[in-house]
Amino acid sequence: MEILVAGKSIQDISAISRHLTPVFAGICEITTIEALRSNLQSSTPLLIIDSYFLDLLSTHLDFGFLLETPCLALLEDDNAIPDILKKNPAIDFLPSGSSPAILRQKVQFLLWIKTVLNEKNISAIKLIDIEQSVKDNMSMLDALSTRDGLTGLFNRRHFNQTLRELFYSAVQQGKDLSLLLIDIDYFSQINKLHGHDYGDFILNELAARITSVFRPGDISCRFGGEDFCVLLPDTDLETTKKLGEIFRTKCNKKTFDNGQIAIDITVSIGCISLFSSSPKDHDEFVTMAEMALFSAKSEGRNRLIDYQSTLEIRQYARKRNFLTLKNNLNKLLNKTKISTISSLQLLARDLTCQDDKEHNNNINLYMQLLCANLHLPDSVIATFTNAISLHTSIRCLLHSEIISKQESLNNTERSILKEFPYRLTELTELFDYFAKERTVLLSYGEKYDGTGYPDGLRGNEIPLGARVFNIVDSLAAMNADRPYRKKLQPQKIIEELLEGAGKQFDPFLVGRTFEIILKNKLLDIEPKVVQVALHNLQKHFPDILS
Ligand code: GH3
Ligand code: MG
Repeated sequence: MEILVAGKSIQDISAISRHLTPVFAGICEITTIEALRSNLQSSTPLLIIDSYFLDLLSTHLDFGFLLETPCLALLEDDNAIPDILKKNPAIDFLPSGSSPAILRQKVQFLLWIKTVLNEKNISAIKLIDIEQSVKDNMSMLDALSTRDGLTGLFNRRHFNQTLRELFYSAVQQGKDLSLLLIDIDYFSQINKLHGHDYGDFILNELAARITSVFRPGDISCRFGGEDFCVLLPDTDLETTKKLGEIFRTKCNKKTFDNGQIAIDITVSIGCISLFSSSPKDHDEFVTMAEMALFSAKSEGRNRLIDYQSTLEIRQYARKRNFLTLKNNLNKLLNKTKISTISSLQLLARDLTCQDDKEHNNNINLYMQLLCANLHLPDSVIATFTNAISLHTSIRCLLHSEIISKQESLNNTERSILKEFPYRLTELTELFDYFAKERTVLLSYGEKYDGTGYPDGLRGNEIPLGARVFNIVDSLAAMNADRPYRKKLQPQKIIEELLEGAGKQFDPFLVGRTFEIILKNKLLDIEPKVVQVALHNLQKHFPDILS
């Protein structure tokens, strides 16, 4: 079959044919509509037309007959393409000045289309359907290419593209835009302990929690391995922080349970908004959020920090005087301490049973209340609180079997626990900065009357932190179900504290403990009972409790 080449004059047409004849045999040259009508057949492999002939066709024909035949229009002006030709999927266009090589390639391609149409026995009209289905598939592929395969959230590529668009349109329209960067704490340990499959489960579950907290207009993405991010269009910093906190709480309040493994995780979040921090471009916007995330990590993890507040700390650090520097170094040290303690807590968390958790929470509460009652400075309270956390985590890591034992302890177990203050101090010696906490940890087993361990210290020889620890630990233990016994009756707890005053406990602290029990209703007991106990205590220790 012949390729039809239709144009204004033989001279014009032969300029086209000349480029084709070396490759394609059988070319029929046409200059009139009549000649086209008589030569065009359903088996014609290709029709090539120039601009002049296109005009001619537009005025003389309805083009319907062209839909069976692939067509190549060589045009000076793209805008001149009639709609009917645009509807023919087998029509293609080339600028009339295209090189011979391009022309030959295009012809080859269109001839191939015709062969396919013939083989599959479909007309060019049906190609419209095929084209639509290709378009549908393309949009599905396009959607897939923006999604992360594991979690179904948007991927980094989509984030980069969307960030650019949203950032500059927010700047232009004077609207705010916020970004949250979310990173799982100690995820590599979770992978190591429980395997990558469970790690993947966590990533999926986390993505689901992200989707449940953030709004349909927010763009949630998997930023990289275990990092996620959420872009919040037209949202200010305060709202973003609130949503971020809701998400953070949703992560650490509900266990990640796949039916076989169930653990708690925490996340750290860095946060920024366009209005609050005025980044110069979209890259700086992300960098600022990353800096905020870095601060959240270094301040102990499991927290949300916005870029602006990290800036304030850094500006503060720039004021160069001794006191400011000392304060800043102290803050830095505290962050490091908290971070170490958090690591230990996370390590111990899986080994801590529910009873133990309640007990630990109570100790912390009583400690805070008693320290506030004693009007101790914040730095001292922090030391005592740190000491308790270190004690609780390390005890759990070393002796979880003994702690959770149902029966009473045997002699070997008792001596292991007596050794524990030394183990604790040895371990905390690894960290110079826990020197103050160490004094508490070494002496918490001492008793007020000198019968305790390890050194038999008595009265005020025992550091205050150890005396406080001793009483809040006992109160918490008596007021919670323990593996070996049920919690004691409130009346019995008051009696035990009174009985222990001057023996195990510092009588002054027993008095203060009665006060916090009364004020904060820590026990379900008639206030009068506690008041009577306090009165009796004062009678026994008139000098101490005047
Ligand atoms: P940090 O609290 O400082 O964030 O500690 P981290 O252990 O979470 O951080 P680190 O960057 O050291 O480790 C990230 C880990 O994330 C390492 C890698 O094994 C894990 N991870 C990254 N992508 C995937 C994934 O697709 N599946 C699983 N299961 N793990 C992943
Ligand atoms: Mg991490």
